[in-house]
Amino acid sequence: RIEVIGSLNLDLVSTTARVPQGGETIITQSFSTGCGGKGANQAVACARLSRSQHDISSGSVIVSMAGAVGDDSFGGDLLKGLRDNGVDAASVLVRKGEKSGVAVIIVEEHSGENRILMSPGANFSLKPADFTDLPAPLPDIIILQLEIPLDTTLQILKTAQQKKIEVLLNPAPAQKLPNEAYLAITHLVVNESEASIVTGNEARDIDWTSNTAQHKTLLDLGARHVIITLGARGVCYLSKGKPIRTFAAQKVNVKDTTAAGDTFVGAYAVAIMLNRDRSETAMAKAIDWANQAAAKTVERPGAQSAIPWANELPPSNAK
Ligand code: ADP
Repeated sequence: RIEVIGSLNLDLVSTTARVPQGGETIITQSFSTGCGGKGANQAVACARLSRSQHDISSGSVIVSMAGAVGDDSFGGDLLKGLRDNGVDAASVLVRKGEKSGVAVIIVEEHSGENRILMSPGANFSLKPADFTDLPAPLPDIIILQLEIPLDTTLQILKTAQQKKIEVLLNPAPAQKLPNEAYLAITHLVVNESEASIVTGNEARDIDWTSNTAQHKTLLDLGARHVIITLGARGVCYLSKGKPIRTFAAQKVNVKDTTAAGDTFVGAYAVAIMLNRDRSETAMAKAIDWANQAAAKTVERPGAQSAIPWANELPPSNAK
């Protein structure tokens, strides 16, 4: 079983010809709502990539999510969003009197650039005390991001380490973490800007495809398997004592890159869950499959709705 512990947000997305000035009202081109939050997106990615869209009730991996929503209508939408994609949402707490997390997203039509106001609401009600223990049966893999309070994430890492559960951290939005946090992290998945931030690098224009000194700094943080996603340039895999491996991105017709990183994380987690072998060959296969899954997502518009189902890809263990 994979357990994702993290954020759930309702996305309110307005597309506009231009961004309003102070005091100005603009009639927008379009408006849509959708389920989001990095935690929920990655849980949905794990669930979709381990089941067929024709039968979501059973899959090759059980995927559950722990998090918190408010007792408002958005909270109900977020729970339904998880269940409709095959995620077990029984561990998502519904906090009385709290508001669900909301992201107000303004997309400028001509540039595609977005501006986001994030109100964490119930996501920030998750306290370290909620995770000093984990209920049995324990998951095989825990996936974390950084959209819930940091002290809570650090407690989850401690508990997972005590229970010897493999942890995948996607440190987004990125911040520098205490050194001891990395002792509990087996898989670190970062994009280029996250790689720069977690290594405390001031320069934001590092080329992570070729800069081996920076690669060493990133690996020295302590995670056993480090994956840097490079957008349209693919993926780079680092592991102590092994040569750097790069995987070219699939050549696709790019529509919308939203949720590409979340798809990559979900697919990689499913692949390493289905094959417990951590040899270089097995890791390369997992990364290659996640690279294919993420490419499918960028070919389609939307966030969670763009994430492919297992039946849209070759099997994760295909030769
Ligand atoms: P994030 O969405 O977290 O910023 P990236 O932009 O690095 O992450 O994208 C994650 C992964 O999605 C990439 O490593 C790659 O596998 C896939 N991907 C992203 N952009 C493209 C693209 N233009 N063409 C093909 N694959 C892509």
